[in-house]
Amino acid sequence: MSANVETLEFQSEARQLLQLMIHSIYSNKDTFLRELVSNASDALDKVRLEAFRDKELQADTDDLHIALELDPAARTLTVRDNGIGMSRDEVVSLIGTIAKSGTAEFLRKLKENQGGQDQLIGQFGVGFYASFMVADKVTLVTRRAGQDEGTRWESTGEGTYTVEPVADAPQGTAVTLHLKPEDTEEHLHDYASRAKVVEIVRRYSDFITWPIRVEPEGGGEPEVVNSRKALWARSQSEVTEEEYTEFYKHVSHDWTGPLETIRLAAEGVFEYQALLFLPQRAPFDLFMRDRKRGVQLYVKRVFIMDDCEELMPEYLRFVKGVVDAQDLSLNVSREILQQDRQIQLMRRRLVRKVLSTVKSLMTDKPDSYATFWSEFGRAVKEGLLDDVDNRDAILDIASFASTHDQEKPTTLADYLARMPEGQEHVYYLTGESRSALENSPHLEAFLAKGYEVLLLTDAIDEMWVGSVPEYKGKKLQSVAKGQVDLDDDKDENAAKERAEEFAGLLGWLTEQLGDAVKEVRLSSRLTTSPACVVGDDFDLTPTLEKMYRAMGQEMPQVKRVLELNPTHPLVTALRTAHAEDRPDLADTAELVYGMALLAEGGDLPDPTRFVRLLATKLEKAL
Ligand code: ADP
Repeated sequence: MSANVETLEFQSEARQLLQLMIHSIYSNKDTFLRELVSNASDALDKVRLEAFRDKELQADTDDLHIALELDPAARTLTVRDNGIGMSRDEVVSLIGTIAKSGTAEFLRKLKENQGGQDQLIGQFGVGFYASFMVADKVTLVTRRAGQDEGTRWESTGEGTYTVEPVADAPQGTAVTLHLKPEDTEEHLHDYASRAKVVEIVRRYSDFITWPIRVEPEGGGEPEVVNSRKALWARSQSEVTEEEYTEFYKHVSHDWTGPLETIRLAAEGVFEYQALLFLPQRAPFDLFMRDRKRGVQLYVKRVFIMDDCEELMPEYLRFVKGVVDAQDLSLNVSREILQQDRQIQLMRRRLVRKVLSTVKSLMTDKPDSYATFWSEFGRAVKEGLLDDVDNRDAILDIASFASTHDQEKPTTLADYLARMPEGQEHVYYLTGESRSALENSPHLEAFLAKGYEVLLLTDAIDEMWVGSVPEYKGKKLQSVAKGQVDLDDDKDENAAKERAEEFAGLLGWLTEQLGDAVKEVRLSSRLTTSPACVVGDDFDLTPTLEKMYRAMGQEMPQVKRVLELNPTHPLVTALRTAHAEDRPDLADTAELVYGMALLAEGGDLPDPTRFVRLLATKLEKAL
């Protein structure tokens, strides 16, 4: 070994992932080649673009291609590109570490989930590391375009790797796999066989626009083995389902096929083609800040950028695919895109197309729709806040858990169709879990009247309900907020009498509990519980208050209203006790308030004190 060889350790997450690859039970090991060809293709895209934009860059872009070199005697397969290459530091950071946040969490899930490994790995995207499914040693030699010195990287995937400078490396990257022995039981094929390799390329990478060359059997000039046709530029009838699937896997780094394929083309002044996909599963980092890869922008078949947020809003960030615009300059930058009116029009059309595709899934493929909504609904609902123009279209494709059905969520259209005579609003309740909401006292009178209530438990629900006033002319109303008036045949006199009867108690309680609540009043939303706590229309909900605090925001305490059920024996007894001026009533008042908090699944301000008061009461009662 030369003196320049450094031995470095893989970052611990990378080490764990490699172990999973080495011992992979994944049946479709052929996919390693798709990953390597994908990387090579990306590297070629990058060098073409960088050389175009930076005329000073000493890059060779004459004959950009991918070469697959087989050596059956040595049992090696080399995937070579003359693309952008990597510097020594890039090799160490890109290959030796995994910089995606949430990786540790992902790996923990993967371990627990032996059977579902394929799907989980697909959501994560292992890329280069997939090589270790089929190779027991991998050598990578690379030189970044414009730099003099190359780097040689080598590893068996077991904990460490070596890097050393090399003087005469060609531009780009060559990955050489020292293949594991063939073992059909383990789904390890002979990846040094030309026929096998060509078959895999045609199956998984045919649409790659760069030539993929392989030497013919017995030697000679390498031949191009892929058809190189950009799928989005071919007419829809020409492209098979399998081709779309493989293309989707290439752009998304997903290992499972798409849920739905979306095609769109515009001709005329501003010409473009879009080939978009809805995935089957949410990526593991859907809610992480550094997640990337949405829609790629091409200009006249030339790759321009990944994750082009100018083409797809944040709330549709899971949509994958390609948009190829004919009338942009290759020099186009994010700043230009942001200001371009045509781009804005295109984005609007793409968004509408995605939303309308989901809407047609609802009727044409209800199972696909259900999958879509359970995977991506949480993200889509962000659009209710961010995309006011499409708010109604988003509400049209949304579904929500409701008191109507334990299992199946409902659309708003179905909710409206079920509304009984006399019900004026769309009712909902927000909170942390379905079970807490189902048992909440706030629901009682609504359920007793046969009114359905939407049970909203996603964090985002707390945010959008406040800014979406109505759906199809029906107001969205929280059952835990404001005064409720569900009585049809009200007896004004009886109500007045009752108010007078309770006036003393309510006034006294309001004073007693003044630090915690802003008012104590009689309720018409309770049938079986003695009390509940409600907010005013514009008050923050307790969950939202908690969320803000968790984000480190200073929050003044939100005082809510305590409502009492005037027909409940505990409440009538309390009224009598107050009228008779019995002792220890202040403790009882505090307990009633605490019970109301517990009933809605909320937190007591001082649990120890609550328990002590309760213990004393019980003791006296015995
Ligand atoms: P992914 O492709 O999902 O980002 P990989 O582990 O396959 O993950 O690759 C990590 C990074 O290493 C790539 O994003 C790229 O920057 C770099 N890389 C991999 N292969 C090549 C290559 N052939 N040429 C240049 N860079 C590469």
